[in-house]
Amino acid sequence: MLVAGFWVLPTLAGGAIAQTVPGDSSARRTAGSEAIPAESPESLGGEPAGEPVLQEVLAVEPARSERRIPDRADYQIEARLDGETKRLKGSLELRWTNNSGESVEDLWFHLYMNAFSNNRSTFMRESKGDVRKNEDEDGWGWSQVTDIRVEQYEGDADLMHTFQYRRPDDGNPDDRTVFSVDLPRPLPSGETIKVVLDWEVQLPRVRVRTGYKDDFLMVAQWFPKLGVYEPERGWNAHQFHRNTEWYADFGNYDVTLNLPIEYRGKVFGSGIGEGERTEGGRLEVRFAAPSSRDQSSTDAFGKKPLVHDFAWTADPRFVVKQFIFKFDEWAEDYPEEIERAREAFGDDEDLVLRPVDVTVLVHPEREDQVERHFRATSAALFFYGLWFGEYPYQHVTVVDPPWGGDAAGGMEYPTIFTCGTRMLSTEDMHRPEGVTIHECGHQFWYGLVGNNEFEAAWIDEGLNSFTDSEVLWRVYGPRRSTTKYAGLPVDGVRVASLAGSHGSDDLGGYALADALALRDVRIPLPYFYDPRWKPIRASGFLDWWRDQPSFTFVREFTDPRWADRSGYLSDPSSDPIDTNGWEYVDRMSYRTNSYRRPAVALRSLSAVIGDAPFMRGMRHFSREWRYDHPYPQDFYSSFQAGAEVEIDWYFEELFRSRGTVDWSVSVDQRERPDAEGFFQSEGGAFLERPTSETNDNGHERTIWLTEITFRNEGELCLPVPIRLTFQAPPSGDAEEGAEPEKIVEELIWTREEQQRERWMKLEFKRREKLISVEIDPERGYYIDEDMSNNSWFDEADTVAPWRWGERVLSQYQRYFHWVGGIGG
Ligand SMILES: [Zn+2]
Repeated sequence: MLVAGFWVLPTLAGGAIAQTVPGDSSARRTAGSEAIPAESPESLGGEPAGEPVLQEVLAVEPARSERRIPDRADYQIEARLDGETKRLKGSLELRWTNNSGESVEDLWFHLYMNAFSNNRSTFMRESKGDVRKNEDEDGWGWSQVTDIRVEQYEGDADLMHTFQYRRPDDGNPDDRTVFSVDLPRPLPSGETIKVVLDWEVQLPRVRVRTGYKDDFLMVAQWFPKLGVYEPERGWNAHQFHRNTEWYADFGNYDVTLNLPIEYRGKVFGSGIGEGERTEGGRLEVRFAAPSSRDQSSTDAFGKKPLVHDFAWTADPRFVVKQFIFKFDEWAEDYPEEIERAREAFGDDEDLVLRPVDVTVLVHPEREDQVERHFRATSAALFFYGLWFGEYPYQHVTVVDPPWGGDAAGGMEYPTIFTCGTRMLSTEDMHRPEGVTIHECGHQFWYGLVGNNEFEAAWIDEGLNSFTDSEVLWRVYGPRRSTTKYAGLPVDGVRVASLAGSHGSDDLGGYALADALALRDVRIPLPYFYDPRWKPIRASGFLDWWRDQPSFTFVREFTDPRWADRSGYLSDPSSDPIDTNGWEYVDRMSYRTNSYRRPAVALRSLSAVIGDAPFMRGMRHFSREWRYDHPYPQDFYSSFQAGAEVEIDWYFEELFRSRGTVDWSVSVDQRERPDAEGFFQSEGGAFLERPTSETNDNGHERTIWLTEITFRNEGELCLPVPIRLTFQAPPSGDAEEGAEPEKIVEELIWTREEQQRERWMKLEFKRREKLISVEIDPERGYYIDEDMSNNSWFDEADTVAPWRWGERVLSQYQRYFHWVGGIGG
């Protein structure tokens, strides 16, 4: 149950107790059924201001049903690269353990590289030709299975004759990114099968995430990879779509790469290279992922570390720098975060994080950014580790792709990730820091908690977007906006771009820019035939001069958490968040609903239930689903179990529906007029204006009639705090020039009340004048579509709506820049 009735908490600016005049002070609430006086006895109890809105929590028993052990896939891979053709020949041995509780008749694999084999693949069709940069005609990549055998019971069986391509999502006959083979006999649950497979892969010129640029190799999604078998659903192996990423079982990887000798000392991959030798003029490197040391221990949650993928990179030009992430140094810098985690998780939880070896790979032209990558990586290891549980591997590798290889950037693989940068970017631009933190954050969301990125990309992207903004804000503060000008970043946002693609200049975007540039001034009078004034006609030099940055660029700093909100506002209601990755209406909706909208919904959730329960919910989910495959429902339940709240409706309405919320407030306040006319006395006779009823003592007796109307114009009903501030009337003995006393009262407009009526009216008759009303005064609800109407001030604040409008529009623009720069 939520807060019942009408809670008004008289708290004080200045610490004194509010004085109200008995009989003259009353409030009525008219939206609900009850009309309770403001000074009801309940008003002395309740929560202090600024506390979470959901007051009553229900202890929910964590779902302790014996969840099945996830299936397990261990790979042993050997591959040889032809340095000239960039073609790999490999053979792999897969051991897959079926724990599904069902017997399995076939095996389904991904052949991701075939997305790049021609322009008819599902990936290319959905991309409509837009596959990042560097579309070389000869840059195609493909993958072909040449042999597949299985060892089951009596020896070896050839499965090649049952090989068939599958198109479970769209039936596209030209898509060859999924194939299946039939088993000679069904594999019972609990048994392990050994599959031996030979294949060849032509690396593409790097376009999306994987491929080569000169001698730089970023090799990901390069081997035939088993899908995930799900009880009652069968094989979950989706085709490679434009908007989707991966899904795979956890296990160990033992990978041996044979490469041209020039890569000596410059090959890095998931896990750790545990042996490098040269033979016959070639280089051989063997990797274990997780590393042998990690495999032989358990992580902070008592589980054996595993990984669900193996990617590698190599470049003779790599500048290799080694660092060590040290928890103590960060704990010293952020004692309040340790305190906060301690408060949320309790003393039993071990919050100390292990040291992590960090390798940063850059190219000589960007060597100056090495330390910055290390710091951003450390920031992610520290905060994510503190909040969601320790990073369980001894090592992480950060790859900065070379000039021209950017398309490999912004992507995450177990213990190795790629970032993205620009020349001349500084720390306060959050670049490369933003991408580095985001991709390192994926070590936790998707790396450790391995959700199905096809069907629920928003779980890892949304949780990660939420967290990376929190980290960026704590470590780097607000972001300085820049715009590219003649190829160089220039301070500020171009005013003309503020209107974005809304195509409207109502909020002053183009109009303001034009006016500043003396280009086109509109005169708001209807009687003119052409209400425009063009003070300076176009000419070559003047055009150039007035477009210079000082005229059309405004400086801007933005809280990265607000950038999430702006991203969300770009498409707040086309689809529910909880939608299959390839089924959103368009790429904009996919991006909004996978990244920014869940971030906003999570941030608002912490406003509803409070910071500590929120933190507990997130950590519990992270712990419970580490090395496993949660679905949305698992996230909802696990979070609630950890937070110990029952808030299913929140997930239903925020994640599974399209609803939004828009609260607003309006106020009508008047002095009670002097009594006029004839009033009937007790005795019976009408008398004109009895003196006892008039305000004849001047201002001290002024009575204010105040009517406050709250509205909710969205579909969502969330409990929301409201703050009313009154000003006490001047008292006779107050010191000259003393500030009039302020009386702050807080209440909650409950979810039930909003469900009953979309509005609520408060009526007061009291000596204190209302001077402000604020809905969501602590700004916890990032989800409110329009915040410009959330407050009312007796002295009109003309700046606020403008400020909000500008924020929204400028962030809209930046959202595109940011999301365009990352791959997943
Ligand atoms: Zn991502």
